[in-house]
Amino acid sequence: MHRCHFGPVKREISIIGQGTWNSERADRPSAVAALRHGLDLGMNHVDTAEMYGGGAAEELIAEAIAGRRDDVFLVSKVLPENASRNGTLEACERSLARLRTDRLDCYLLHWRVRHKLEGTIAAFEELQRAGKILSWGLSNFDVAGLEEVRAITGAGRIACNQILYHLQQRAVEHDVIPWCEKNDIAVTAYSPFGSGHFPGPETRGGRMLGEIAESHGVTPRAVALAFLTRQKSVFAIPKSSNPAHVEENAAAVDVHLSQSDLDRIDEAFPRGPKRRALPTL
Ligand code: NAP
Repeated sequence: MHRCHFGPVKREISIIGQGTWNSERADRPSAVAALRHGLDLGMNHVDTAEMYGGGAAEELIAEAIAGRRDDVFLVSKVLPENASRNGTLEACERSLARLRTDRLDCYLLHWRVRHKLEGTIAAFEELQRAGKILSWGLSNFDVAGLEEVRAITGAGRIACNQILYHLQQRAVEHDVIPWCEKNDIAVTAYSPFGSGHFPGPETRGGRMLGEIAESHGVTPRAVALAFLTRQKSVFAIPKSSNPAHVEENAAAVDVHLSQSDLDRIDEAFPRGPKRRALPTL
């Protein structure tokens, strides 16, 4: 599995990771086996959140990573409603307990609403000093929000920005991804398959992906992941509770799309105009 530094975090993180939203709804042995199989394949970036299943996804991950914590780059998120200074400290302790670990590798603010950013950031810095988190980052932040955080913390503190990014939602290529790349902040593409709306063979774009996939000996989804992660700052976290699907997704790292492949994908799934508001699920 191809790995890279995660923004300023000097750890080798898999370009293709593993999401866990709704994992707790799947058949549990299969979901656990899928995560373990992903780790065996080197997909060490495992993404979760206190929100997912009200903590049930974190508990499922605890089962999957038991005995192999050091193999994992573990990311969780605090809900905005808990993201005051004290609320963040407490939410982190709850996540650590559910995950049965003593540290998170990265802790994110899930999205921004009510609380002042200063309190959340102060809690992140305190948790990092205490060794309870290795790094911290953001999710669903636009450029204005990222600049606000950087003005509070200075450069080099934000590890990543996790954003909605898939073939049919490429508006972030206009400004958010370039800003992150310029500032050495990792971009994590969430819902890289459109969260259940992946273009199938009944569509023109789906057929084209199928042709490219066939020429590389992989699946159309692997082609989509290879396209999204063609930029060096971008990581993707597809969710799968099926070990065979995980294997298909892992194959994306070995796909080297030609210029002609890239042009065909770009034509079928255009970037579209810049959006005023950051797209979210
Ligand atoms: P997604 O990864 O775009 O798509 C997941 C769906 O694709 C599942 O139904 C999965 O089913 C299916 N799938 C995966 N691999 C497949 C394959 N090779 N063949 C066929 N089907 C396949 O959706 P997502 O869960 O919304 O996004 C991924 C992760 O991003 C989440 O799990 C979460 O960790 C994160 N996320 C973050 C935010 C945020 O606000 N920060 C928001 C949404 C998501 P199977 O399980 O059956 O394979």
